[in-house]
Amino acid sequence: MKRVAVLGSTGSIGTSSLEVLSALSDRLTLVGATAHSRWQQLAEQTQQFAPRVAVVSDESLQGEVEAASFHSETQLKFGRDAITELASAEDVDIVVTAIVGAAGLQGTWAAVEAGKTIGLANKETLIVAGPLICDLAKKTGSQFLPVDSEHSAIFQAMQSGKTAEVKRIILTASGGPFRGWSREQLDSATPEDALRHPTWDMGPKITIDSATLMNKALEVIEAKWLFDLNVSQIEVVVHPQSLVHSIVEFSDGSCLAQLSPPDMKLPIQYALTWPDRFDGPSPKMDWTSTWSLDFAPPDRDLFPALDLGFEVARRGGSCGAVLNAANEVAVSRFLGGDLKFREIPQACREILDAHNFDPDPTLTDLNRLDQWAREETSRWTSSPSI
Ligand code: NAD
Ligand code: MG
Repeated sequence: MKRVAVLGSTGSIGTSSLEVLSALSDRLTLVGATAHSRWQQLAEQTQQFAPRVAVVSDESLQGEVEAASFHSETQLKFGRDAITELASAEDVDIVVTAIVGAAGLQGTWAAVEAGKTIGLANKETLIVAGPLICDLAKKTGSQFLPVDSEHSAIFQAMQSGKTAEVKRIILTASGGPFRGWSREQLDSATPEDALRHPTWDMGPKITIDSATLMNKALEVIEAKWLFDLNVSQIEVVVHPQSLVHSIVEFSDGSCLAQLSPPDMKLPIQYALTWPDRFDGPSPKMDWTSTWSLDFAPPDRDLFPALDLGFEVARRGGSCGAVLNAANEVAVSRFLGGDLKFREIPQACREILDAHNFDPDPTLTDLNRLDQWAREETSRWTSSPSI
């Protein structure tokens, strides 16, 4: 029995993780779960899974949370420190990091420090602090098992050869809701348009990141750290059907891909049960109908976020923390109707260029730069040239 903690259990990845736990209840058990504000949903989850602990991380809700609605055997805790405590608890084997944004860093860090196995959904951890957290993981023996579908595909395909035999990896991107849109159309794209993802059902932040291709940019950086690759070994291809989740090309030219319907339960389950495979709740491929797979290069002019990702992956240092924070704020301003769609990558580019580059930052430096980038992006306005 593997003992699991799910940080961010009320989100898209969190609820899919609990579906996997429920389907594989003879192998996986929930020790603890955390939510930021949706405490009623968390309370319902405790009624189903009876975990030892449930954490509401937004402390300001302490007055309104009804402790009686939680399972009688579940201890209710509040605040960010309670996440840290759960992530490093003795009775936890694997921590699923399903909190969105840089807010997920603290819990992931604590789990790595405690030597836990990490089911890594919160890619922002690697974007902000890739080298520091990878060093820490080497020291503590903590292992990252990717939950992100592309990285899970790479991880699965890589098991067909030796690390030294990997020539390059090809990350697939659906292209998002705006694939094929003109510049003029993009200029008037609304949050409702951007939230209508053609193939994936995800939380709002990553859905907007998929529309700008910033998600793929972040995944390039994530892949670099997870698989210890040179940036020149990473490619991106648009694949609108989202059935091929990524491809590894080996030195002899053989390309190995992983296919499954676009549903996160499979990569979550693989991270939770690795190195074993079991029948689970994920939908299966239908090989009886006619279908095709398309691949095309991304439009880097219309979606400049992608180049930002490659650039940040190359430069390293403080760039990831700044890009991530600028993007989080720009996305939230776009969702609030305060920025236009094409201003998201523009703001990120300008904040990144304006920052004081530090090639070898500490965690404190990164937190300070994250704060700086958030403040700058909050007051950023577009130059008239766009
Ligand atoms: P979501 O918005 O659906 O859920 C976010 C979760 O984080 C919720 O449980 C929420 O309570 C919690 N949370 C939000 N702000 C918090 C804060 N300040 N402190 C503590 N907890 C907080 O997000 P999601 O789509 O499930 O994405 C979660 C992570 O997984 C992201 O890093 C995303 O990039 C990654 N990811 C998601 C998908 C997907 O299909 N949704 C795929 C790949 C990777
Ligand atoms: Mg992904």
